[in-house]
Amino acid sequence: RGNSDSAERKVDSVCPYCGVGCQLTYHVKDDAILYVEGRDGPANQGRLCVKGRFGFDYGRHPSRLTRPLVRREGVPKGMDEGFDPARPLTHFREADWDEALTLAAGGLTRLKADHGPRALAGFGSAKCSNEEAWLFQKLVRTGFGSNNVDHCTRLCHASSVAALMECIGSGAVTASFMQALNADVVILTGCNPAVNHPVAATFFKQAAKGGTRFIIIDPRGQAMGAYAHRVLRFTPGADVSLFNAMLNVIIDEQLFDEAYIREHTEGFERLKASVRDQTPESVAMACGVPADEIRAAAREYANAERAMIFWGMGISQHTHGTDNARCLISLALACGHTGRPGTGLHPLRGQNNVQGASDAGLIPMVLPDYQPVSDAQVRASFEELWGNAGTSSDGSGDALDPEPGLTVVEIMDAIHAGTIRGMYILGENPAMSDPDLTHARGALASLEHLVVQDLFVTETAQFADVILPASSWPEKDGTVTNTNRQVQLGRQALPLPGDARPDWWIIQEMARRFGLDWDYGHPREVYAEMQKGMASLNHIDWERLEREGAVTYPCLAEGAPGEDVVFSEAFPTASGKARFSPALPLPPDEPIDRDYPTVLSTGRQLEHWHTGSMTRRAQVLDDLEPEAVASLSAGELTRLGVHPGERVTITTRRGAITLVARLDDGMPDGMVFVPFCYVEAAVNLLTNPALDPYGKIPEFKYAACRLSRAEPA
Ligand code: SF4
Repeated sequence: RGNSDSAERKVDSVCPYCGVGCQLTYHVKDDAILYVEGRDGPANQGRLCVKGRFGFDYGRHPSRLTRPLVRREGVPKGMDEGFDPARPLTHFREADWDEALTLAAGGLTRLKADHGPRALAGFGSAKCSNEEAWLFQKLVRTGFGSNNVDHCTRLCHASSVAALMECIGSGAVTASFMQALNADVVILTGCNPAVNHPVAATFFKQAAKGGTRFIIIDPRGQAMGAYAHRVLRFTPGADVSLFNAMLNVIIDEQLFDEAYIREHTEGFERLKASVRDQTPESVAMACGVPADEIRAAAREYANAERAMIFWGMGISQHTHGTDNARCLISLALACGHTGRPGTGLHPLRGQNNVQGASDAGLIPMVLPDYQPVSDAQVRASFEELWGNAGTSSDGSGDALDPEPGLTVVEIMDAIHAGTIRGMYILGENPAMSDPDLTHARGALASLEHLVVQDLFVTETAQFADVILPASSWPEKDGTVTNTNRQVQLGRQALPLPGDARPDWWIIQEMARRFGLDWDYGHPREVYAEMQKGMASLNHIDWERLEREGAVTYPCLAEGAPGEDVVFSEAFPTASGKARFSPALPLPPDEPIDRDYPTVLSTGRQLEHWHTGSMTRRAQVLDDLEPEAVASLSAGELTRLGVHPGERVTITTRRGAITLVARLDDGMPDGMVFVPFCYVEAAVNLLTNPALDPYGKIPEFKYAACRLSRAEPA
C-alpha cells in the first residue's frame, strides 16, 4: 500500500486478468494506482489473487507505447535477437496518428482491392472489452468483407463451446462457480483452479470445508488435492476412455436418472451402445487408474443429489477436446445434474473477457450471440442493424459474407499458402501463443501488411508494418463478461499516456478509412447497439451496470437479477431437449515413442498471464516468477541426472528449448510441464499444431518430447 491522503481517488472496476472477473477498487493518486482492493462483487466477495492485487504497474512500464510507430524502410520483419522493445526506434520510427492510420488502413485496403476481401484477416482480443470486440468483428465483417476474424478462444475453450452448442444448444456455463457451495459432489477435471482461477479456488475450498466432496480427475497433482475426497490421476490422453468407463458404470448399475433422460434428452440409447464395452476393467490399464477407483468416482457423482462438473484446458486443448467435453456433458445429462442449484456444467473460462468476446462475435463461423453466418435471416438482421454492411467477398454488394471464416491456426496456414496477405491484430500475441511458433512466426514475417494495436512492441508487433498504441484496462470504460455470464462494468481510472488512444477509437478510425460511416462517441453508444443485436443482453443496459456493477445474463425481466442457473425447464435446442453425443477414444495426434518418450504439456502460472506481455512488466509478479521453468517429477529429475535449478533441454519434432528444471511433486513421471509466457524459452516453438476437427483447437496438452541434461548457462 502507498500512503493515502485527501488527494487519493477511488475508482471501481474489474480485474483484467482471468475469467473469474473479480471486482476491485483502484486507489489512485497523481494519476498512478497506489494500491488495489477487492470489492464485494458477485464472483469474488472482496477477494483478489496476486495478479489482481499487484498486477497493474505494467501500464507505466518504460517500454509502454505512447506514439504510433511505422517500420523503417529496409528493416526486415522478424524477431531480431538484438531488438530491444524498450527502444524500438532502431527498427521503427514515430509517426503522428493521421500518418499511421493512413498507412495502416491503406496497406489493407490496397490488398483488398488487389486480391479480394478474403485476403485479409483480423485477430481481436479477449483482453479487450465487449464493445471493442463488437467493433472489431464488425470492422472485419463490414469493412474487410469476410468472416476471417477470430481470437484466443480458439486456443482455449473452442472445443468446449463446440460440444456445448451441439449437445445443449448454448456455449456458456449452465451455472456459476458459486453453485459449488450448494453441491454435494464436484468433479474438477483438466483444470488447476488454485493456479488459473485462484479466487474461484477459494470458494471451492470453502465448499469442501462445508462438506462438498471434490473428485479431481487429472494427470497432474495440484493444490486442490488437499481438499479432495478422491483424486484420479490418469495417463495423459486417456481421458475419453476414463469418462466412458464412468458412463459404463452409471448405465450398467442403473444409476442414471431415467425420468430426467426421458423428459430432457435425446440419444441415450446411442450412448448406451457406445460405452457398452468400455468397462472400468477394460480401460484401467490404459488410463492408469484402478477399476475400483473409476467405479467409486462414477457412483459418487451419479448418486449425489446435486453435482457439478468444472473443467479447464486440460480437457479442451486436445485433438479430442470436443470429445472430452461431449463425455462430460453426457455424464451430467445421464445423471440429471443440470438445471438445479448445486448442479451444472462449467468450463472455467480463461481470459477475463473470453466469454464476452465470443458472445460479441469474435468467432469466424458465427455472428454475435452465436448466430450462424450461414443463416440468411441472421445476416439480414445484422445488415439491417449495421446499415450499409460493406462489400461481400463475391462482390455482390452490401451483404455480409455467408461463408464461415478461417480460425487462428488456419489463418497462419493460409498466410503460408498465399491466400491471406494482410492482417490487423488487436491485443493478441500469436508470435508467442500459437502452436509451432516457427511456422506461425514465418507466417507473420511473410505478411505483405501487418497492423498491430497493443500496449507494447510485443513479439507479434516486431513483425508489424504499423504499430498503434492502445489503452490498458485501467485507462478505459467498458464492459466484460466473466466465466459466470456476469456482465460487469470497468471504469477509467488513469489518463492515457502520451498519444496512446482508446482501442474503440482506434478501431473506429480504421473503419472510417475503410469507408465506413461510424460515429461512436463513447463505449456506451457501442453497447446500446450491441443490445439491439444480442438478445443475451436484454434488460442489462449500461445505466443499470453503472448502478449495480454486474448483472448475469440471461436476465428475463427489467430489474431481475439474472439467471445464475439455466435450463431448468428446457434447453435452447430445436426440440428443447439436450442431446447425448457419444465419443470413442482416439490416440493423441503425436503419441510418445522411443525417440520422443515424454509428454510435453503447457499452460499458465499463477503469477503470469497468457504470453506475459502485461505480467512480465508488472514488477511484483515478475520478481515472484522471473524465469522459465520446466516442472518435473523427482523420478524424472533422477533419471535425467538433473538437480532442481539446473538446466534441461526439451526437444520435439519442431525444435528445442533449454530452461531451468523445477521439482514439482504434482508431476507424474514421463511428463514435463512448461508455462508459455517466457520468450527466452518459448515453449510454443515445440507444441503440436494438430487441431481438434470440431473446435479447431491445437493439442497444447500433449506433444511427444525428449528431455536431456543441459550444461549450465
Ligand atoms: Fe483477477 Fe482472476 Fe485473480 Fe480474480 S482470480 S484477481 S479475476 S486474476
